Amino acid sequence: MERSDKPPLQHSDERISGYLHLMNEALAGRFDDLQCPTCRQQAVSVWFTHPTVDRYFTWFICADCRFHTWAEHAEKPPFFSEDRVSTELQEQDLAMLKRSRFKMPPQRKM
Ligand SMILES: [Zn+2]
Repeated sequence: MERSDKPPLQHSDERISGYLHLMNEALAGRFDDLQCPTCRQQAVSVWFTHPTVDRYFTWFICADCRFHTWAEHAEKPPFFSEDRVSTELQEQDLAMLKRSRFKMPPQRKM
């Protein structure tokens, strides 16, 4: 019997290598038809959001499955493109930031 030449892959390693692959594609300026780490289709697109002056996000979204991931940047990433800013995602980011920043305990007036 022949042994399979595919090495067993840890799930976490697979996730990280898939993510790094996507990040490298974005760095190379490729924003469409990237291979999805989950469903293996070339269906991942890159989007950007810039919800506040000091926050930049890069989003990777698969059109074929539910895969999506994002990275937060402290400053404008070199591959950031205004043409690829998603206003829909940006509103989600803003809502998320507002929730974390303005979360206050309920106060009751006497
Ligand atoms: Zn997918």
